[in-house]
Amino acid sequence: MLERRSAGAVIFNDSIGDRYYLLLLYSAGHWDFPKGGIEEGETEVEAVVREVYEETGIREIELIDGFRQTIQYSYKSQQGEVRKSVVFYLAKTGTFDVRLSHEHKGYAWLKYEDAMDQLTYNTAKSVLRVANVFLNGLRRSIQEGQVRTLR
Ligand code: ATP
Repeated sequence: MLERRSAGAVIFNDSIGDRYYLLLLYSAGHWDFPKGGIEEGETEVEAVVREVYEETGIREIELIDGFRQTIQYSYKSQQGEVRKSVVFYLAKTGTFDVRLSHEHKGYAWLKYEDAMDQLTYNTAKSVLRVANVFLNGLRRSIQEGQVRTLR
């Protein structure tokens, strides 16, 4: 069994009031977050920043402290069965401009409920669910003027 590790990001933009999440349509036909293989010698965060830029053209991201979610799945590739683990970080951006690479067929900025409907896999939906609860909690504590240590 082949093992692969990828890293990705739940990217959101709340600069116009509502919170929008960025999803990509993969060539294989599924909707997911930007992500890709962690290269030799690269940290998870370095891989996230590189993959987000390569896949979306977005350079300006701010990683949100305290969020890190890992999912696992298996699939069959031409080289055989692959067991994959993907670690997701949470990232804020102020831009809606996306420049896709050849790896993807489309993208969408969607509000939470729509993004939940659009995501193909349940594992990705769970990551989004946790991210949204996390961000709601963060917003509440900012509104209430609490200073919270997130880690
Ligand atoms: P990466 O973006 O990490 O470089 P990739 O584009 O090569 O990866 P994946 O997105 O991992 O490939 O997709 C490989 C296969 O796994 C596809 O058949 C896809 O449908 C399936 N797959 C992708 N995400 C999931 C998931 N969360 N759960 C189950 N199967 C998935």
